[in-house]
Order: sequence, then structure tokens, then C-alpha cells
Amino acid sequence: MRWNGQSAGAIRIGSKQANAPSSVTAALPGLELAEVAAMPGHLRTTRAPEFAGMVFHEVLAKSALNRVPQGSSMPFAWTINPYRGCSHACVYCFARGSHQYLDFDAGADFDSQIVVKVNVAEVLGRELAKPSWGRDMVALGTNTDPYQRAEGRYALLPGIIEALAARETPISILTKGTLLRRDLPLLAESSKRVPVELAMSIAVGDHALQQSIEPGTPTTRARLETVAAARAAGLEVDVFVMPVLPHLTDTARHLEPLLRDIRDAGARSVMYGALHLRSAVKPWFFAWLGREYPDLVPAYQRLYPGASSKATQAYRLELAGRIRPLIRKYGLEFSGGAGRSRDPYPPVAAAGARAPRGPVSPRGAGTRRGARQLPSTGEGAALPLWDEVPGAPAPTLF
Ligand code: SF4
Repeated sequence: MRWNGQSAGAIRIGSKQANAPSSVTAALPGLELAEVAAMPGHLRTTRAPEFAGMVFHEVLAKSALNRVPQGSSMPFAWTINPYRGCSHACVYCFARGSHQYLDFDAGADFDSQIVVKVNVAEVLGRELAKPSWGRDMVALGTNTDPYQRAEGRYALLPGIIEALAARETPISILTKGTLLRRDLPLLAESSKRVPVELAMSIAVGDHALQQSIEPGTPTTRARLETVAAARAAGLEVDVFVMPVLPHLTDTARHLEPLLRDIRDAGARSVMYGALHLRSAVKPWFFAWLGREYPDLVPAYQRLYPGASSKATQAYRLELAGRIRPLIRKYGLEFSGGAGRSRDPYPPVAAAGARAPRGPVSPRGAGTRRGARQLPSTGEGAALPLWDEVPGAPAPTLF
């Protein structure tokens, strides 16, 4: 097992395993009990009646903060991932591949075998107390969703938020989870001390399609209501309309009512991106497509040929031409505030100049601290937010 990077190697599990409740599993899909018990830092593996089909692997993490690699153009320097795997189970989730590092598969295991760092807030508190801590923004939701269903059982986020705010550390959260509402009072209080950036991912307006491709998530309506609740609590929320699915959610007929609903919910801005299909996700996605929309398989094969993870540039240009005017129409441009120096949504017709290169903060300030979080969760890495149009600002995000 490759667990060493995120669990406490020296923790002995014998006595805890021996006293584990009856819900501890004796045989897990793809795993033998002895193999599970050998996980460094492993406390117990358990199921719960209210989480049918899910298995929780509780571990003691030895670290909470993950440093974003030097040279990365992500607009934050640190991340926290209290969970590995995600019960939201989005078919397109690019984070699926990361589960393979734990010797789980990127398909059903990613959706159901959830690793829980039960001591993450406590460890974080110790890390933030170090004199060397620089109070850079910390992003949650960069790999898997922090407000997935398991959070209802383990309630790790309040401790994390409290620890960050207590150490004057800006907080950024990206989620699809309506469980966010539970923490809105705490986040509103924290926002008096530190910048708090919230983003909700809402990409599919069609209910049946949304339930099919994001089977473990709250409905689009529930997420819109969560955006409104956050606004009512005094917090700004940006919405990620991503991934936009070719031939399924990319028409004006789909996008316009979705953007109107997002505007009506009180969101500050919208960022969008076409579907991104990394190699570990591609077979899983195409299997779903073949079951649900077999007629679209040839079209998707043309849009994502071979090992290509991005849709063709022609498609992304076409999408840009369709969605950007709608984003403008509903006043949802990614504005970035007073410090912004470049328009991230230039008119498609203005394209043509050579794209400027190099890291540019979305706020135009060129700084990581306090910068708005940009998408890097399972919604899609290397998102073509700015690069659909030659000549558009190219922040070199990932
Ligand atoms: S896309 Fe986000 S919410 Fe969906 S499974 Fe991946 S991490 Fe979870």
C-alpha cells in the first residue's frame, strides 16, 4: 500500500483493531483484512447503516498541510485534503486517478472507499502554531470534496476552519456539498478575521442528467440554495460551471437558464471550462457515455482523440463564443475586483494577438496570499478557462 505520504507511519493499530466495533469490515472489495490492517496510521475500517455501500478507512495523518509544488502557478501555496476518494462520485472527476496511489481503483473504489484523516484538525493546529508558518492562503477542495457525505459523520471542517482563522490564515473552499450550510455561521465569523473565498460547482441544469453523471451530489437546486444561503450570511460565492459537457450541456438552451439561476442565487461570478478527461478517467467516462448516450460516443471520440485530455481547440473556441456573451449578459464575469488588470473573458472576435505567458494572479495582483482559488478539484485540472481564445490572457494556472 502506498499510504506513507498521508498517514502516521509509526501508529500501531493492533489494539484498536482488536476492539473495533462490529461494523468493521472483515473483507473489503479488492482488499484483504490483513492488507488493510497493514496501512500505516490505520485505526479502523468501518461501515455505517446510513452510508450504504460506503467504507470508511480512518487513519491518523502525520501532516495536514500539503505544499503546492514550487513553480506551480496555482494561486495558493497550501492545500488540505481531509478525505481521499469522494462519494459525490462524479463520473468525470479528474481526481479519480489519485485513488490508484492508494492501490484502490479509479472507478467504484474512488466513490466508495473513503480515507478519513480523523486527526487532521489537531495536526493542522500544530503545524499552524509553528513560528515559520507564513499565513498563506490554504485551499480546501483541491483534490476531493471536503463537504462530501462523510463530512456529515466526521465533522472535520469546523476544526479546520477554526484552526485557520485562529492563525490568521486565508481560507478558500470549493465544493458541491450543501453541508457547507452547516458551517456558514462559522465561516461568516471567520471572514471578520481572514479572507474567506467560497466557490460552488454547478454545471448541469438538467436534473436527470445531473443525477446520472453526479450521482452522489446534492441537486443543482439545492446547491443554488446553498449559494443563496451563503450570500445571506454575508459571504461572496463564485460558481464553477464546469465541466461543460459537449453535446449535453453546451447549448444556449441549457446554459442560459443555468446562468440565470446562478445570477438569481446571488453568485459573484462564473468560471467555466469544457470537460477535461485525464487518462485514468477516460475509460470510466466512456463506459458511462456508452451506457447512457451511446449515440454520442463517436462524437466524443473525435473531440477527445487518442490520449488527448482536452477537447479540441475548435470545440473550445466554439464554446467560448457561446458562453462568454451569456456570462456577460448575466453580469457574472470573473471580475477579480479592483486589482484586476486583464479581462479574462475577451470577446472571441478580438482574439488573434499572441497570448501573454507567465503566472498572472486572477486578481491581477501576482500574489498568492489572499488570491481567489481557481479550479483544481475533480471538476477539472488544467482547465481551459483562458486559453480557448488565442490572445486571451493566459495565467498559466496549472
Ligand atoms: S468532481 Fe469534485 S465533487 Fe465530484 S467526485 Fe470529484 S472531487 Fe468529488
